[in-house]
Amino acid sequence: MTADSDSENYIEPTSRAPVKVFDCKNCDLGSLVEEIASYEDRVQKIIDYVLSGPFKGKTHDELAKFVDTFGARPSGTFDLEKSIDYMIDLTRKEGLNDIVTEELEVPRWERGIETLTMFEPRKKKMDILGLGESVKTPLNGLTAEVVVISNFTHLEDTPDEEIKGKIVLYVPIFTTYVETVIYRKEGAAKASAKGAVASLVRSIAPFSINSPHTGSQNYSDGVEPIPAAAITLEDADMITRLYNRGEKVKVNLIMYSTLETAVSRNTLIDLKGYKDPEKLVIVSGHIDSWDVGQGAMDDGGGMFISWAVPVILRRLKLTPRRTIRTIFWTAEELGFYGAHSYKKSHKSESHNINYIMESDEGTFAPLGLVANGNRKTRCIVAEVLKLFQSINASTLVEDDSPGSDISIFTSNGIPGASLHNDNAKYFWFHHTEGDTMNVETPENLDLCTAFWTAVAYIIADLSVDIPR
Ligand SMILES: [Zn+2]
Repeated sequence: MTADSDSENYIEPTSRAPVKVFDCKNCDLGSLVEEIASYEDRVQKIIDYVLSGPFKGKTHDELAKFVDTFGARPSGTFDLEKSIDYMIDLTRKEGLNDIVTEELEVPRWERGIETLTMFEPRKKKMDILGLGESVKTPLNGLTAEVVVISNFTHLEDTPDEEIKGKIVLYVPIFTTYVETVIYRKEGAAKASAKGAVASLVRSIAPFSINSPHTGSQNYSDGVEPIPAAAITLEDADMITRLYNRGEKVKVNLIMYSTLETAVSRNTLIDLKGYKDPEKLVIVSGHIDSWDVGQGAMDDGGGMFISWAVPVILRRLKLTPRRTIRTIFWTAEELGFYGAHSYKKSHKSESHNINYIMESDEGTFAPLGLVANGNRKTRCIVAEVLKLFQSINASTLVEDDSPGSDISIFTSNGIPGASLHNDNAKYFWFHHTEGDTMNVETPENLDLCTAFWTAVAYIIADLSVDIPR
């Protein structure tokens, strides 16, 4: 995921990583160009149906009803399972009955009380969020001095004696998600290896109104698991300033949680293809969320635009050649549990995945796709995207492993794409109490729904398979 900053195709990072736009100048698709262009009427039909027809505002309304009814849907909870049942019901009401759920074991990590109080050089209570699957502290918490660490090289260069018995605070400044998130994911394990008693991280976000951002983290084998939490940018920066002035910063950290396992389900909804029903074009998003906020943005929006694809195609009687399969992945947030399970249980038919799509980076105004694949594949997808110039969604961004859940498939060479959207503010809300319906707008959701539906339809209906 690197990009040449001298290239004219380089665009400022908006989300997970810097992006590189595909140049289709030398594509030679022969008669396929005409075939793809022939979908113009059907694309317009879908756009009209969603932007100004019977589906106008529906994605937003349904998403709002969903998140207001169930709220947050953490992995392993009854709320998540009830929300899955609700989506099955909603789908059946649309006359789509080809629905299967597949069970799998998932973690159930439940957050309890969490407090962080600085009491030297002065008293201040701080807002924190424990990281996924963090262990708890003793009942009265841990009281220790804070060592501020700017990056992993800094940690390595710091003698163990200076870390031992202390609480490490990582203060990486957000650049891109991919670059910065390693401190959330690996920070506790690395701090523990040096003898720290707990690990705090400056929230992985470019902007904050005193909001801590949770997220998953991994302990490594052979290392004592220590409590791990995120603090706000404001508090992290203040502690850093105090520390750099030579002040001793002492805190008390109390964290409680439980970790069990439970059973959840992936949900598969098929709109069977008329010619090659065994071949699949998958559209997807995850139905679970963190326990904070409502999971409206992450990933309610992505799940609902994927739900809308078979619903709209059925209503418009547009049946593609191949099967459209909508998947609601479960337990994404704690580590892609649903996607891993699907990959394992559908191994024998993975050659039938013609294309796999996922929306899990926001449903702001759509701009195009982030896609992998060989040159021919990228040329075909770029040609398809030309049909979306009227809604400004024609950009193809190149990435060898797009998506989050689907990266398990795309990194193994299965062609696929994630939704490229105007998500510069995505990480303002990501994994916080602020992930609510207020992030979403009916207009953007309509645009995403129309785009997602039409792209999936064309790829599922083309006379040629997407090459691997
Ligand atoms: Zn997500």
